[in-house]
Amino acid sequence: MRWRFGLWSTEELLWQFLFSILRVFSGLASFDRWSLEYSWDERIDLTIIAIRILLDGVWKESPGVSKRGTFLISSRLFFRGGGVYLCYMDESGTSALPGNTSHFVLAGLCIPISKWRTYERQIETIKSKFDLLQCEIHTGWILRPYVEQNKIASFANMSRTDRRVQVETHRKGELLRLQKTNRALYKQTCKNYRHTEPYVHLTFQERMNLMETVAGAIGSWSDARLFAECIDKVHFNPTKAKMSADEQAFEQIVSRFERFLRNLKGTKTYGLLIRDNNETVSRRYTELMKVFHASGTVFTGITHIIETPLFVSSALTSMVQMADVCAYALRRYLENKEKALLQHVFKGADRNRGVVVGVRHFTVPSCDCSMCMSHRKT
Ligand SMILES: [Zn+2]
Repeated sequence: MRWRFGLWSTEELLWQFLFSILRVFSGLASFDRWSLEYSWDERIDLTIIAIRILLDGVWKESPGVSKRGTFLISSRLFFRGGGVYLCYMDESGTSALPGNTSHFVLAGLCIPISKWRTYERQIETIKSKFDLLQCEIHTGWILRPYVEQNKIASFANMSRTDRRVQVETHRKGELLRLQKTNRALYKQTCKNYRHTEPYVHLTFQERMNLMETVAGAIGSWSDARLFAECIDKVHFNPTKAKMSADEQAFEQIVSRFERFLRNLKGTKTYGLLIRDNNETVSRRYTELMKVFHASGTVFTGITHIIETPLFVSSALTSMVQMADVCAYALRRYLENKEKALLQHVFKGADRNRGVVVGVRHFTVPSCDCSMCMSHRKT
């Protein structure tokens, strides 16, 4: 038998009681919608976020998201209602023409806000297995050949501590040699050493295993979606396109993310873009987003994506690093036909009735790569 108190069931009454306490003590008393309008799933999301704000824990656990950013994310959820998807963006290759890569890829990895904690913890667990806690997952630097590792006898059989000591000794000697003989190469080598330093205790095979495990985790997130624009720069003409490669890529991601949010069933769901703080593009992206809010993109009006993009430090924000993994996997497939990481991350490519609509290879119409084929599939 179910107890009822007037119009409300017991669950309803308990919810109202809990919600009132959280609302008052989390400082979000100006909440403008009556809580009865929410589904139970949304109520659970709201409760979790209110508790996080209450404990102030969300800021301590994610130093990469600014206090203002975290407040915006959570306040939008409270003030506007419905769910929120976070779309983390990062790029691979250079957008400069011709640049030193044939492709420029901008990827957006989107997850429901309620899964942020779970997924971040998964990545932390993987990092700890490879002794990389507090380290950034930067795929491009992790998967480079580290030449000195091949010169150290029985490197793979050493403990991780001994490997690090050996590599550091080798690198010091190499820098001293270059300082005297080749200044230009010395500077480049210093940069390489600085970026690869966190990973030198891992063999190439271990680094590959690390990246496949991370990509596998991303591929297992059934409620995550991947959006990407992969531009073959040989076939991209900025004069014809009337915009630069990264502007085109950004407009495409915004349009596809907006369509994805619009097609979700149930209560209106909002989206927020988060990307690496890159000074050369942050101002331009902010200006572009304001234009999209005012008059839409070439493809669609913007009614579900809120705010201009939030810029965070990729070194501190795991999910931006995951977007980097996706962008890297897409570019390496298009340039070198490498599938090891792509086969995992491509599972999340946004699809409509089996056809990939979230990821596009911008190239000649006759391209028969698997990305183009899945885009055309009928
Ligand atoms: Zn293609």
